[in-house]
Amino acid sequence: MRPLTDIRPKPMIEIAGKPFLEHQVELLRGQGFKKFLFLLGYLPDVVKNYFGDGSKWGVQIEYSVTAVEDLTGRRVKLAEKKLDDCFLLVYCDNYWPLPMDKMWRRFTEVNAPMMVTVYSNQDNYTKSVLKVDDAGFVSVYDKKKKTPDLQGTEISFAIIRKGLIEQLPDGNISLEETLFPPLIANKQLAAFVTHHRYYSVGDTFRLPITEQFLSRRPAIILDRDGVFNEKAPRAQYVRNWSEWKWLPGVKESLRALNEAGFKIIVVSNQAGINRGAMTEADLHDIHMKMVAEVEQSGGRIDAIYFCPHDWDEGCECRKPKPGMLFQAQHDFNLDLSRTVFIGDDERDAQAAEAAGCIPALVSEKRTLLEIVNEVIANTKK
Ligand SMILES: [Mg+2]
Repeated sequence: MRPLTDIRPKPMIEIAGKPFLEHQVELLRGQGFKKFLFLLGYLPDVVKNYFGDGSKWGVQIEYSVTAVEDLTGRRVKLAEKKLDDCFLLVYCDNYWPLPMDKMWRRFTEVNAPMMVTVYSNQDNYTKSVLKVDDAGFVSVYDKKKKTPDLQGTEISFAIIRKGLIEQLPDGNISLEETLFPPLIANKQLAAFVTHHRYYSVGDTFRLPITEQFLSRRPAIILDRDGVFNEKAPRAQYVRNWSEWKWLPGVKESLRALNEAGFKIIVVSNQAGINRGAMTEADLHDIHMKMVAEVEQSGGRIDAIYFCPHDWDEGCECRKPKPGMLFQAQHDFNLDLSRTVFIGDDERDAQAAEAAGCIPALVSEKRTLLEIVNEVIANTKK
């Protein structure tokens, strides 16, 4: 990471106008954290001088400074007296929009002393080093990657009970090499699995997409049928352009979003394809005409994702499953926790919940244009 880190430690590298670590502090504060303990080694004064006691951010920051060569296990052990009975451990080089409520619910349900966050890595974003069993516990952790069929990687955001740290031996120990094997052997290392990418300052090649992600260009995700156009009755489909009927205010909404700089992404269940009511070519034809009319009226559509599968095919993309939302997350490096997904039925709301999006439903009481104007106004704040 040199020369970037000649005069500052890695988490102080500036991303989207501020140190990476400041993005993390704001993220965690937004999830309810008020007390922070920074474990520092390299150039600690750069961090201390910048953050002070944390009051500028409305939080309380303490420090534990130990030798540069200390591994995470030793750093945590040496800070033991300052730890709460249960705490969240975050590596200083990973950003991931954590849903703390969901994580806490799971942690209390599994009744394990430690839960790590696991990126599922189904898109080969990084190297897989572990396996998670059907019950949601880490069953293999193999940093050397000798085990076949590894799937997922640990990204910290780990909830740990202090009792585990009290049992750690002295010496310069690696946290994962010391803690993980006995926990795994006893089925005690819970995993919180996520498909939402994390963003890192761990390697120079990751910096451009981390910059893109934390620049937070606004984006919106929309369902199609019942949001853009009149919905066909259940088990019937809009099969060609002559069957398409725009709902009022849609083109105006898309123009307003475009003018406000939003990426506009459509996700749509189209089971009519695999049910034989229409072909994929029919769907593309409809979408070409839809996109052209949107563009004529000053709008824009950046991407359309559709699920062609029948109801009983068990795919990962058909809503209420969140597969298409995660696909969009990966393709556009979206922060789903800040992205509104507008739909018109319960499956959309469920998909939004599963992906961690902000759900919104159009209804007779609330038009698309009203929702869109609210989303734009909130983004400007
Ligand atoms: Mg719909």
